[in-house]
Amino acid sequence: MPETTIETKTAATPDRSPAGSRAAGLVRPVRTVAILGAVGALVAAIALPAFASASGPATAAPVTTEQLAADNAQSIVVASEATQAPSAREQFTATTPDEIEKRKAEEAAAARAAAAAATVASASRPSIAGLALVAPGSGAVRYPVTSFTPGEGPGSGRGHEGWDMIAPEGTPIYAAAAGTVTASAESIGGYGVSIMIMSNINGTMVETRYGHMVYGSRMVQAGEQVSAGQLIGLVGNTGNSYGSHLHFEVRIGGSVIDPEPWLAANAG
Ligand SMILES: [Zn+2]
Repeated sequence: MPETTIETKTAATPDRSPAGSRAAGLVRPVRTVAILGAVGALVAAIALPAFASASGPATAAPVTTEQLAADNAQSIVVASEATQAPSAREQFTATTPDEIEKRKAEEAAAARAAAAAATVASASRPSIAGLALVAPGSGAVRYPVTSFTPGEGPGSGRGHEGWDMIAPEGTPIYAAAAGTVTASAESIGGYGVSIMIMSNINGTMVETRYGHMVYGSRMVQAGEQVSAGQLIGLVGNTGNSYGSHLHFEVRIGGSVIDPEPWLAANAG
């Protein structure tokens, strides 16, 4: 076993100073063996009462050596978490086969949970089979929906800040420009399922917002880069919406502009 493992355990023991354990480099082999024995005794002393109280004396099953080793290993982890800074905790190395298996299982479970959280409603994700993954055109700016009926724009005096592009539910939505996804969620206020992207178009910072998408249809998460015309989701009717359409907003320098003439002038 690597010596670093033993040193980390030693640092986790509250009644030893880390400086003291590192000072005597010349006699390290002898010291580590002695320390390992001391740590083992300490673990046994603190682990067994905790195990007994958790399972209850009446229901305590015969404890195998493997279980005992696993419980001891878990106690070491708990002790290190309680007494060490997070950076030091990362140096901890699994030492027994049981513990290695346990940590592998924990890491796999954590990865599955993270994946599930990142892909909201993945089980009900609508199919995108047959849809073009990239919008037609080659310009820096693209129409977010390629076939639509023009609806209400901004400046109506009702606080509407986007252009409603009316299209059937499930119509693909494309990123109007390359950029960074700044928001992507199943519910953002009246936008419902929505995505927001910040783009640098020839030196001008342009924010585009896409609202009322279908639940589970978001293809990108906050922090991801998208290319112009990349499929990002599907037209829906979520949030403050009455009828399937894309609510598309464009902001330049933080100010709302009318997307219709902007697209007409720039998309291609
Ligand atoms: Zn709208």
